[in-house]
Amino acid sequence: MSPKLYWKSLNSLLFPRACIACDKTLIEQEEFICIECSFFLPFSNTRKGIDNHVEKKFWGKIIFESAYSVFDMKYSDRVYKIIHKIKYKNQPKIAYNIGKIFGQYQREKEWLQNIDIILPIPLHSRKKRKRGYNQSLYFAKGLAQSTNIPVHNKVLKRKVFTISQTQKSRLDRYENMENVFQCMDPRAIYNKHLLIVDDVITTGATLLSAGQTLRNETSCKLSFLAIGNA
Ligand SMILES: [Zn+2]
Repeated sequence: MSPKLYWKSLNSLLFPRACIACDKTLIEQEEFICIECSFFLPFSNTRKGIDNHVEKKFWGKIIFESAYSVFDMKYSDRVYKIIHKIKYKNQPKIAYNIGKIFGQYQREKEWLQNIDIILPIPLHSRKKRKRGYNQSLYFAKGLAQSTNIPVHNKVLKRKVFTISQTQKSRLDRYENMENVFQCMDPRAIYNKHLLIVDDVITTGATLLSAGQTLRNETSCKLSFLAIGNA
């Protein structure tokens, strides 16, 4: 056994690594997700048109270039588990890794090559203090790592503290998201193609509101990306 391999197996004995989607202990060859889960993970397509369920959420609401998610969350407990860990279990590194891997797969594709800047959806400072991190920023940084597209973290700012929206109707949610964001640096995004990224897309109201805020400030192109499409 080489010293490297020895160290690796000793390490996994002392710190057993678990699959992010099913919590099973990973074997030597597996990295952060087990083979079974990686086989069943519902990767969503990055085609345009009727099969793209993310894109549909923005149709007729704003002019945009592309809208995608890494995963489709419907019918997949695995993705829900992953998102839960990212949001509530202090594991933002998972969001980073997903961004990095997704970027590796997509970086040759035209839609991603046209992007100038990645903008993560900010958390309100109160929420960030409570959680300790912004998972969308981690996702953005992972994506930047494998694509070399810069992340601007100070352009979008959240003005209002929004309460949990799960109890609200769809219409309330849209109204609730109006004027939530502020553009802090219009010059940084002038005539750029921006990829606004979030953890989960439900109605699309958050990404839409951020996009509208930026568009109202200055001339820019918009694309949207989330980890999961709910
Ligand atoms: Zn697994």
